[in-house]
Amino acid sequence: MPEKVIIIGSGPAAWAAAIYAARANLEPLVFEGALTQENQDAGRPPLGQLALTTEVENYPGFPAANLREALASAVGDELKYMLPPAPDEERWAVQGAELMVLMKQQALNFGTRTKMQDVVDVDLGVHPFRLTLDDDGGAETLALIIATGASANYLGLESEKRFKNKGVSACAVCDGALPRFRNKALAVVGGGDSAVEEADYLTKFAEKVYMIHRRDELRASKIMAARAMENPKIEILWNRTVGEVLGNDDEGVTGVRLKSTVGEDDLELEIAGFFLAIGHTPNTGFLKGKLEMNEKGYLKWTTPQRTYTSVEGIFAAGDVADDYYRQAVTAAGTGCMAALDAERWLAAKGLH
Ligand code: NAP
Repeated sequence: MPEKVIIIGSGPAAWAAAIYAARANLEPLVFEGALTQENQDAGRPPLGQLALTTEVENYPGFPAANLREALASAVGDELKYMLPPAPDEERWAVQGAELMVLMKQQALNFGTRTKMQDVVDVDLGVHPFRLTLDDDGGAETLALIIATGASANYLGLESEKRFKNKGVSACAVCDGALPRFRNKALAVVGGGDSAVEEADYLTKFAEKVYMIHRRDELRASKIMAARAMENPKIEILWNRTVGEVLGNDDEGVTGVRLKSTVGEDDLELEIAGFFLAIGHTPNTGFLKGKLEMNEKGYLKWTTPQRTYTSVEGIFAAGDVADDYYRQAVTAAGTGCMAALDAERWLAAKGLH
């Protein structure tokens, strides 16, 4: 018997889809991805990109504050009786991995089944769709939700890997407001819109932000480039590449050594944070030639306001189909949409 719905992925889009699919009695099976060093190194850990970050301060419902105080100040006295007793201990923002574990548990509570395996190939030319797994096993499903996410690109330096989450981050919006970066000098690598956006965002907290770009001209749009040039806290270092991220185990990142592409001397900067903004790669390698993608490999949503892909019965949710918003909350939103779309499609076909 084929599954009714298989979900591939394990970030917010996948778990939100699983919660909704399970509550619709679709008995979803989630392929979470294998717990391998290769997946870790490629930025595809089980539980998704969010598991790579620390505090998550912008996911609605999880305020970054003492939980008791936040709850007490969020409701009027007349509604306080509705709240359960708050825990005694001080509690600061939920961690990315915790949020994912909570979402996973919520999906399990409604009967979701999960397997820690990679889907390595799909046959979308038959129905039920056929999946090939990393152990050469297979699975068949009537509907498929792809929520495999995207992975931030890193430069690939050993020193960068060493200080990941200790000052090295590929998401300024996720991590920029952490205390370790406040009123310090920070660096952003890249010259595109994301790099400008991240640098600009970081100036809210940082004393100064260096943008490190490998050429003498930004790739960012004119309006974004002007934003970088006009921000007095941003200094653009042109024609520079990164030689090494400097730091130690106690403090994490303390600096960076830059090389020159035009024959100038190396340059050492004192910084407390090193942010990558050199693009993302969607995890769609196993779908090449099988589903429509944009020029960067992101899955195409083929109908406005729907999570439909170019093959009927296959739905995409989260960052794998979104190179624009890329937030946990938007991923969870499209995960919910994909489950509803799958349920309605199965019902319309008389399959559920
Ligand atoms: P992007 O436009 O591809 O820019 C990537 C930047 O990283 C480029 O400047 C590139 O340098 C640099 N880079 C790539 N690999 C590198 C390496 N190995 N070492 C050093 N530098 C490297 O990516 P993005 O900025 O993430 O933007 C992605 C898309 O989202 C774009 O279409 C962008 O317009 C859009 N976006 C829009 C907004 C907005 O409008 N507010 C905000 C964010 C993103 P080179 O320039 O030398 O190639």
